[in-house]
Amino acid sequence: MLLEDILLNYLPKSGVNNTVESVHMRNQVTIIGGGVIGLCCAYYLQKQGYRITLIEKGDITGGTSFGNAGYISPSHIIPLASPGIVAMGLRWMMSSSSPFYIKPRFDADLIRWGISFYKNANAATVARNAPHLARILLLSRSLITDIKNDLGNQFRMEEKGCLMLYKTPNTEKHEIELTKEAGRYGIDTKMLSAKEVQDMEPDVEVNVRGGVLYPVDCHLHPGDFMQTMKDHLTRSGVNLMLNTEVTGFEKTGNKINSVITDKGKVETGELVLAAGSWLPLLARKLGIHLLLQAGKGYSITYKNMVQNLRYPAILVDDRVAMTPMGNDLRMGGTMEISGINDSIMIKRVQSIFRAAKNYYTSLPVEFPGQDKIWSGLRPLTPDGLPYIGRHTRYSNLTIAGGHAMLGLSLAAATGQLVEEIIGYKKTSLDIMAFDVERYK
Ligand SMILES: Cc1cc2nc3c(=O)[nH]c(=O)nc-3n(C[C@H](O)[C@H](O)[C@H](O)COP(=O)(O)OP(=O)(O)OC[C@H]3O[C@@H](n4cnc5c(N)ncnc54)[C@H](O)[C@@H]3O)c2cc1C
Repeated sequence: MLLEDILLNYLPKSGVNNTVESVHMRNQVTIIGGGVIGLCCAYYLQKQGYRITLIEKGDITGGTSFGNAGYISPSHIIPLASPGIVAMGLRWMMSSSSPFYIKPRFDADLIRWGISFYKNANAATVARNAPHLARILLLSRSLITDIKNDLGNQFRMEEKGCLMLYKTPNTEKHEIELTKEAGRYGIDTKMLSAKEVQDMEPDVEVNVRGGVLYPVDCHLHPGDFMQTMKDHLTRSGVNLMLNTEVTGFEKTGNKINSVITDKGKVETGELVLAAGSWLPLLARKLGIHLLLQAGKGYSITYKNMVQNLRYPAILVDDRVAMTPMGNDLRMGGTMEISGINDSIMIKRVQSIFRAAKNYYTSLPVEFPGQDKIWSGLRPLTPDGLPYIGRHTRYSNLTIAGGHAMLGLSLAAATGQLVEEIIGYKKTSLDIMAFDVERYK
């Protein structure tokens, strides 16, 4: 049975134009954005027989989804906007080398975003949002294993958990609280002494007070994951329009008819906006205001390490992520809200490197040249929950983005949810909390 026939039989009959032609058009999905979210949407939609065009202004080899730390982390159930971050953020944001930095500038969107972020950073909102984050994280964690089984593990995925390492009694106390919170969602944790951490890392000296292992977490090489997805989608007949920038849209009434690019026009049935930190810019062309700021982070990757880490770890006091990827080692971190740009604040990268050497005192690495420093932009919503769902202003628009520091972790679930939304199916989980119009 063709997808058109299935849609004709099962689509809602009232208020929707279900002629063969309209159903045929609805079967054509255009996705804007070839980051991990766009690619995973394409993956799940393609499996259901949709005809897909994915438009990406780059070439899927170097963006935010490429150089990140590679964690799939159900451990991260507490959204970024949490009570601690405001107190810490106020202290940190004055220092350009701190883990969290807001570059002072007059920008109405930044001010609106900041006010919303501040309002959300309280215990009540976190208690309301954490269960939604936990559910989608756990769904995504199980789907990533399905993807590995489907496509083969060409992306160095290792399912051995992730360590949270700390140096101070205060951080230890905070981490113990988080293990209790994780337990409420059935997420196992294991407290470790300094000696136990050292035993897990026989090749390097570790200088910590202790740590927590989250066995459910896993990690992979995000660049290899993106390449594997790209190859698979190309083989499956998805039309990847790379190096093509979307510049506008053609609409009639509440319908988007086509996407205008610098290489011509693409007619569309359904449209998915998955443009990461550029979402507000594209949404504005559709008359939609989305609250979202780019949060820049940096990473450095060392190839062919002779002595490498065995476990990925977050150096909690410094907010630095360390990820062994086969023989390679990536260290990354910092959150810099300074708009959309790829400039490098070297002091911030030096802080990442210093933290790494401070926790792993014998790690054989040197600070690299500037050309080896990668930066990427996390798409940050004011409450730390993504935007996933249809927008009521148009009959054929779905938005998928704003995954902040969890885009890779949430990509598989987001892809599956978007396929369900476009197919008018019951979604695998309640998506009300991810409402794309919650900051209208
Ligand atoms: C240092 C760092 C470490 C991180 N570590 C982790 C981690 O360990 N685990 C995790 O889950 N997440 C992590 N993240 C976050 C994760 O990388 C992001 O959440 C994720 O990559 C966002 O994916 P995306 O597809 O929404 O956006 P992007 O990857 O930014 O993709 C959006 C795409 O849209 C394209 N686009 C934009 N405008 C247009 C246009 N007009 N026309 C055509 N194309 C357009 C862009 O070129 C871009 O490729 C990290 C981020 C950073 C910076």
